[in-house]
Amino acid sequence: MIFVDQRKILMIECEWKKEGRVQINPDGQVYPCCYLCNPHYRFLLGFKSNLTHKEHKDEHTQHIWDEYNDNKEKFNINNRSLEEILNDKWFTETLPKSWESEDTALVQCIEHCTVDKKDE
Ligand code: SF4
Repeated sequence: MIFVDQRKILMIECEWKKEGRVQINPDGQVYPCCYLCNPHYRFLLGFKSNLTHKEHKDEHTQHIWDEYNDNKEKFNINNRSLEEILNDKWFTETLPKSWESEDTALVQCIEHCTVDKKDE
């Protein structure tokens, strides 16, 4: 459970993971989805893209992007197989663990993939 809002029980369910999809850019860079790819790609191009949007969340979420950036070459299809990339700690632990709380999740994950468990 990520958070309770009045009578709602909200959780993050990774839409792309559920559908078995990932984003592979023309340069070979692999992302879990387009929602994370787009702001990060602008960031890499040097645009003042805000990766987390909410300043107060930076201290909780910056490590997610730091870890991705530190291993960026390893997440490129030109350097490793897709299977190896998707089995990497960043894809199997770091990102999924961030979905456990609203405080630790990336704002894109909250905005695009929050579901109300009571609606199911
Ligand atoms: S925004 Fe986050 S939770 Fe949603 S599909 Fe992308 S990685 Fe998964």
